[in-house]
Amino acid sequence: MTSNGIPLLSVRDLQICYNTPSGAVRAVNHINLDMERGEVVGIVGETGCGKSTLAHSIPRLLPEPPAQVVGGEIRFEGTDMLSLRNKEVPKYRGTGIAMIFQEPINSLNPSFRIFDQVVEAIKVRKMREAGMEATSAAEPHDYNEPKPPVSHPLREVTATTRRNRFGDIEFDRKELMAEVVEFLSMVRINDPEHILRLYPHELSGGMRQRIMIAMALSEQPRLMIADEPTSALDVTIQAQVLSLMKDLIEEVHTSILFISHDLGVVAEIADRIGVMYAGNLVEIGKAADVFSKPCHPYTQSLLRSFPHGYKTDGKLPTLKGAVPNLTRLPTGCPFRGRCESAMDICATAMPDTIDLGDGHLVSCYLNRKGAA
Ligand code: SF4
Repeated sequence: MTSNGIPLLSVRDLQICYNTPSGAVRAVNHINLDMERGEVVGIVGETGCGKSTLAHSIPRLLPEPPAQVVGGEIRFEGTDMLSLRNKEVPKYRGTGIAMIFQEPINSLNPSFRIFDQVVEAIKVRKMREAGMEATSAAEPHDYNEPKPPVSHPLREVTATTRRNRFGDIEFDRKELMAEVVEFLSMVRINDPEHILRLYPHELSGGMRQRIMIAMALSEQPRLMIADEPTSALDVTIQAQVLSLMKDLIEEVHTSILFISHDLGVVAEIADRIGVMYAGNLVEIGKAADVFSKPCHPYTQSLLRSFPHGYKTDGKLPTLKGAVPNLTRLPTGCPFRGRCESAMDICATAMPDTIDLGDGHLVSCYLNRKGAA
């Protein structure tokens, strides 16, 4: 909740389609999701189940067309994001909602040094804090100017800004440099004074992702949306970036919506886990409950195929079949073609979502008895 009792994020009955030549792809179907301040919610599911569409719809980053929100509501700190005019949306990005994407090389500008890219994010935040429209581009910087003293926690990183006699905001370059160094240090980059002079292509994938996290943090967002942030990294770097994100959750008290196809990754970081299948949120609950008492057959299948410890006796079980074509979804439960527990009723209609207690919600006919 925010200080006035409003949820940080409230998604209600959200429905999103992509209009394609072969028909409307129903990527998100009647999804409900709430997040509180400081909470980390993981969304898992196979590729093509609608996770990224859900994530990108929150800060209004979906390309419209072909995407179209056909129903529902997204409220961020009480603001109806879908009713905002296009020119109002940027106010809620960055300092409100920051995104971390899968491929940092696609998000960083190859022709600017790291300093110029991080400092632009800091300037945007400062201009918003000063009530000005953020339109500045990165400016070249003198990298040989003296290094200022650094080392202060995020909540104290608020270098002062001044307005000149024309009312324009003026930035203190030494303070900006101190902030950039501080944010690079915060994401555990050694020798930040050297790294900030480099271009993105001179860094490894893991280092580039740290820069993206530093840029997101520098805007001091209330909600970070991380869309498969470790999928493009090799396993050891993935572990380092995950460990960093876990530490930062403690340090900066931000909320994170963490999207991943990897249950193991989400298990490391999330307070609650939601499982998506064919555009539907089929199960959500506290991470411990979803792992110890999975109720939807799809969640159970994902967990069976997830390696626990060291296995020597044969292959891990796999989930046969594939996600159905989203332009021609079958009637009833979309998982029934792959479900070993399917019953006649499963072909009639999508099961309602029921509460098994303590916020553990599931959409499956198997769980009707004994529901809370
Ligand atoms: Fe399986 Fe039926 Fe439950 Fe769908 S509703 S997951 S088909 S048992």
